[in-house]
Amino acid sequence: MKICVLPGDGIGVEIIAEAVRVLEALRSDGVKLELEYAQLGGCAVDATGSPYPEATQKLARAADAVLLGAVGGPKWDVLPRPQRPERGLLGIRKDLNLFANLRPAILYPELANASSLKPEVVSGLDILIVRELTGDIYFGEPRGITIEDGKRVGRNTMIYNEDEIRRIGRVAFEAARKRGKKVCSVDKMNVLETTQLWRDVMIELSAEYPDVTLSHMLVDNAAMQLVRAPKQFDVVVTGNIFGDILSDEASMLTGSIGMLPSASLDENNKGMYEPSHGSAPDIAGKGIANPLATILSAAMMLRYSFNNEAAAVRIENAVKKVLAQGLRTGDIWEDGCKRVGTREMGDAVIAAL
Ligand code: NAD
Repeated sequence: MKICVLPGDGIGVEIIAEAVRVLEALRSDGVKLELEYAQLGGCAVDATGSPYPEATQKLARAADAVLLGAVGGPKWDVLPRPQRPERGLLGIRKDLNLFANLRPAILYPELANASSLKPEVVSGLDILIVRELTGDIYFGEPRGITIEDGKRVGRNTMIYNEDEIRRIGRVAFEAARKRGKKVCSVDKMNVLETTQLWRDVMIELSAEYPDVTLSHMLVDNAAMQLVRAPKQFDVVVTGNIFGDILSDEASMLTGSIGMLPSASLDENNKGMYEPSHGSAPDIAGKGIANPLATILSAAMMLRYSFNNEAAAVRIENAVKKVLAQGLRTGDIWEDGCKRVGTREMGDAVIAAL
């Protein structure tokens, strides 16, 4: 398994170190890994002037998977847009054709109090948001701000072709087959023609997956249902802009951004794996960041890119075990638990493996 490791900026360096130690612990158990490090984001801008330099492109393209910490920080916010760390992130996603973003939102029973919702509404929550990542209004043309009849006019284009819808639909149906066998497709077909096509294609595709139940929901209702009764969902599939908003909403149901992994996949299950949170400049370098989202991202990498379900489950069970032992980093700490730092949490997961 050839893995391109991109620690990035801020806490990225600290949390990636722990995820790599967990993978190394599996290596001594026979999991074959080849790790190569490169730069992405602000650190790459400092070293080369580009947030996604050529050397990183080469390694990322040649690898079977990419493991990323996080990028960005106030230091680089003043740079012209093409040099901002976030451009590196968009660049690598586009370069590797990562069209499918998978974000599980799982609430471990031990962390039920961390959610802003009542424990009975969220305890045991386990949903997967599948978001299309390379199309929709974020990339559609024409776009821009122009002057028309002496007035400024802003314009973006919502556009999907049926192939793009079908391939993200397949990712959702396949994922549902390995879980609760339910897909909820989210659209706005009452107003937007693009999403009428989205719904039509999902219905056509569902004929190939008779073992999976397909339902549909308008995006405004989906936003409401996610906070009213989130456990009704298994897999939610939606376009880029709706998915951007709904996946953040779903992740916060768990109340602990430091716990949430993500995967972005291409058509051959090559993927980039990263925590859902950012580089947390406010706590960078203090050794207190929660490494679990990154460790769980490494587990997703083993599952989706390397088809090693057993190793993935081993990591996930180790994480459950340390939570059951009462170990918590500051972001998820509560009375009666033991507060630990980044390294200590990594040590505990390795011991639990
Ligand atoms: P953030 O996710 O970095 O931080 C939000 C809050 O959550 C902060 O208080 C932070 O301390 C806390 N937090 C985040 N991860 C944590 C962890 N693992 N353990 C403990 N606490 C944690 O979001 P932000 O502050 O809006 O952004 C900071 C920088 O990160 C910006 O430059 C932004 O552009 C960038 N960013 C990068 C990514 C990415 O690399 N994928 C994603 C989001 C934001």
